[in-house]
Amino acid sequence: MSQKITRRDFLNGAALTTGVGVMAPSNLWALESLESGAINTAYPPTLTGMRGSHKGSFEVAHALAWEGKKPARYDGLDEHYDLVVVGAGMSGLAAAYYYRQKMGLDARILILDNHDDFGGHAKRNEFHHQGRMVLSLGGAQNLDNPGNYSDHAGALMIELGIDADAIAAMDTNTPDDFLLGGKLNANVGISTPGADGKHVNVEGHWYKFMHGRGDYAMAVRQLPISADEQDRLIAFFGGAEDFLNDLSLGEQFDYIRSVSYNRFLMDKVGLSQQSIAMFDGHLLVLNGVSGWQHTVLEAISAGAPGLRAMGWVTNFVDSLAAMMIGGVAEIRMFPDGNASVARLIVQKLIPGVAPNMQGITDVAVAQFNYGALDRENQSVRLRLNSTVVGVRETADDGVVVEYVRGGNSLSVTASHCVLACYNNLIPHLCPEMSERQKAGLSYGVRSPFVYANVLLNNGLAFSKLNLTFTHCPHDAFQWVSSAPTMSNGGYEPPRGPEDPMAVFMMGSPTPAVEGSSARELCRAGRYKIYSTTFAQYEAQIRQQLQSLLGQYGFDHETDIQAITVNRIPHGYAYSYLGLDDPEWEEGKAPHEIGRAQFGRISIANSDSEAMPLMDAAFDAAWRAVAEQTA
Ligand SMILES: Cc1cc2nc3c(=O)[nH]c(=O)nc-3n(C[C@H](O)[C@H](O)[C@H](O)COP(=O)(O)OP(=O)(O)OC[C@H]3O[C@@H](n4cnc5c(N)ncnc54)[C@H](O)[C@@H]3O)c2cc1C
Repeated sequence: MSQKITRRDFLNGAALTTGVGVMAPSNLWALESLESGAINTAYPPTLTGMRGSHKGSFEVAHALAWEGKKPARYDGLDEHYDLVVVGAGMSGLAAAYYYRQKMGLDARILILDNHDDFGGHAKRNEFHHQGRMVLSLGGAQNLDNPGNYSDHAGALMIELGIDADAIAAMDTNTPDDFLLGGKLNANVGISTPGADGKHVNVEGHWYKFMHGRGDYAMAVRQLPISADEQDRLIAFFGGAEDFLNDLSLGEQFDYIRSVSYNRFLMDKVGLSQQSIAMFDGHLLVLNGVSGWQHTVLEAISAGAPGLRAMGWVTNFVDSLAAMMIGGVAEIRMFPDGNASVARLIVQKLIPGVAPNMQGITDVAVAQFNYGALDRENQSVRLRLNSTVVGVRETADDGVVVEYVRGGNSLSVTASHCVLACYNNLIPHLCPEMSERQKAGLSYGVRSPFVYANVLLNNGLAFSKLNLTFTHCPHDAFQWVSSAPTMSNGGYEPPRGPEDPMAVFMMGSPTPAVEGSSARELCRAGRYKIYSTTFAQYEAQIRQQLQSLLGQYGFDHETDIQAITVNRIPHGYAYSYLGLDDPEWEEGKAPHEIGRAQFGRISIANSDSEAMPLMDAAFDAAWRAVAEQTA
């Protein structure tokens, strides 16, 4: 740190907030208990300060899940729907889309979500400064191998205009140096704290270096670690030694499937905690848990180095990461991530929200009128700031859905309901379910993340870093990138270093420790998120950016214009891990037991597929709608 961090007010308003909500449950739904400003109906993507799981979005659900508290009575609205969808994430939006497609344009659908914006994880942060729009990601990032989506998911993409030609154009419109947009040959740096409060930024392509490609030895020699440790890293990256040669072939096979990656690095490779943190940073941000929770095989499959250091495998296959570097993975991105996909679906469902939008060519820049989401006399209504607390079948072949909005306890009825919210909450919404189903729904724990976007006056200092993406393994935000620079969706990214830009910072709060399950650690990370204030995040961000960029003329006091912290306590859907989970027989895994149809209620959401990807969210929606329309 070369400069003292002081608290500053931001142009866009510093949304200071306390951590965990402290309001008593009864006040959460007492009429007039919340000031009218608690419900934001303006344009949420431009809000700064604490976003993601923002104040007002989680308190009611926590009162239900933690204390079993919910309102004693509800005002029944005179509203009956063919379908009520709980959750306006990608799965809930897709469920509404598929249902309408099957049942006709007149089908009456209500979508409820507890946040002030739609999209679930797929949210955008939108800044306006010096006459320019600067977009970045508030969550889910990119289309991950869209060519491999299932028929139903693929068909939805095509109907949204994201067909093969569009996907090819997205690639063309993405600069070659933007890693997160699928340009896997872009430079990838490593930045570690050095002397005098300045990070040492080592350029190059560390994914290549870690797999023994390029001048990895020279790059390692620039890291501020001991010469011995450098030697070990060089041997490890280059495959100079087979670190499993004391084991038979069969033992090696068992070892890589039953021992943690970090234990392997420590015991077999002899790396120190300092080097291990380098790979932990990658695994934490990519998969939500550290190398202590991955088997060797899982870590290497996720791009962590090591395959070259196991002689037997190197003979016939190189690492997945190396294949990725070669361009095998197909990743495409909008400048606001998958929020553009959410916008495309919402505009199809409710055209009045953006009547002039053409589609994929202007989705990123189209103006959305949130006031049009929930109007009477439209077949699909999307109601935000509404936390569902109860869903049950009625005696007359219907469903009643109870929710809290702005302090009011309300209910609507429907013929069918799709729960596209979090699996863990469903047992509290539907207490009539069997204990076996509830146990299945409660098993997985979503992994938490914090994504921050920092609006800078200009990109002069960042451009001198000479990297659009760098690993910061020893910082709170382990990955730092420029905000998306592609022109997809009609967006004009910063034209040069003089234009305002945003820095996109990704962090995992999940502790990297040995001996605890991934599920326990994800819960710990979630608590950490709720107990960290915006002021604390702000201090971390200023300190990290100053240390990273101060050497290039950056001054956090004058260069930062706004900060948006997207806290995502319920992030990736849980997918099973070799160290923690048995191999269940087909149909007996917790997510399969948990997602069983419950009469007129079906379960969508990516949890129900145990897969944290957009196409899994679509597949889940398709299944839930098929159940309810059979
Ligand atoms: C940081 C991050 C990055 C990601 N990046 C990618 C990526 O690059 N590519 C990719 O394919 N996938 C990515 N994903 C995975 C992402 O989870 C899926 O793509 C998809 O967006 C999940 O959608 P969902 O509808 O299943 O869940 P969610 O997005 O979580 O949506 C569920 C919605 O239900 C709401 N809800 C919950 N309880 C209630 C209630 N009681 N009442 C009302 N509403 C409720 C929630 O608030 C939320 O809005 C990423 C996820 C995260 C967290």
